[in-house]
Amino acid sequence: MECRDAQFYLRLRRHTTDELGPDVAGTLEGHLAICPACAADGRAAVSFDRALTAAMRAVPVPSGLREKLFTQAASAQGAVLRHKLYRTGGLVTAAVLLIGIGFGVFSSTRPKADSELLTRTATDQANDPAGSVGRFLAAKKLPDRLPMPFDYDLLVHVGTDEVQGQQVPVVVFRSSNGDSGFAKVYIFKSDSRFDLRGLQDAQGSHARAQVLVGQDKFRGATYVFVHTGRDLKPFLLNRNGGGNPA
Ligand SMILES: [Zn+2]
Repeated sequence: MECRDAQFYLRLRRHTTDELGPDVAGTLEGHLAICPACAADGRAAVSFDRALTAAMRAVPVPSGLREKLFTQAASAQGAVLRHKLYRTGGLVTAAVLLIGIGFGVFSSTRPKADSELLTRTATDQANDPAGSVGRFLAAKKLPDRLPMPFDYDLLVHVGTDEVQGQQVPVVVFRSSNGDSGFAKVYIFKSDSRFDLRGLQDAQGSHARAQVLVGQDKFRGATYVFVHTGRDLKPFLLNRNGGGNPA
């Protein structure tokens, strides 16, 4: 194989993964093994493609723009390649390259959905609600229990909620009254991105928010109890006791 052919196949190899076929691939590898210039070109192409892919991953692209760019790039690239090397096939090659990068970015940035993991998490929460909340809080570097004696048999959910664009840990309980009432405990770290100064209780038409700034063991965390009903009693172990955070 001559350098000219090797260059042609190198370019083709960049744009497709398996179209070279074993014969050509073998001959090309043979040439790369004995020709330092072409071998360097091959390595440069690979590292350029990697850098390009990484750069594309790092840039958020508004929906619609990506398709537009791809369409324009495909036709521009197609024209150049058509006039240069390939009388035919340039447009197809460019399109394959662009689609390939698109799929590569798409698939490598998306985690595989795992229903078994979700089942294990749910099982853990059902078997040991208080423990699952404790482990979650500890993982978030928060005090590993809540500053009120919640009835963990009423636990519905532990996780994070998006609040004003930030992810905030939240523990959700249902009411023991048998109604649709619920209590959500949001936990804000004092070193979070929120300005917590002046955070106050609030009253809505169907819900209240009560603020508790953590002391002692709970120092460094600010708790906001958002609940339906008058107070937190329907959610606590000792339902005859005080239903308001101290
Ligand atoms: Zn060569």
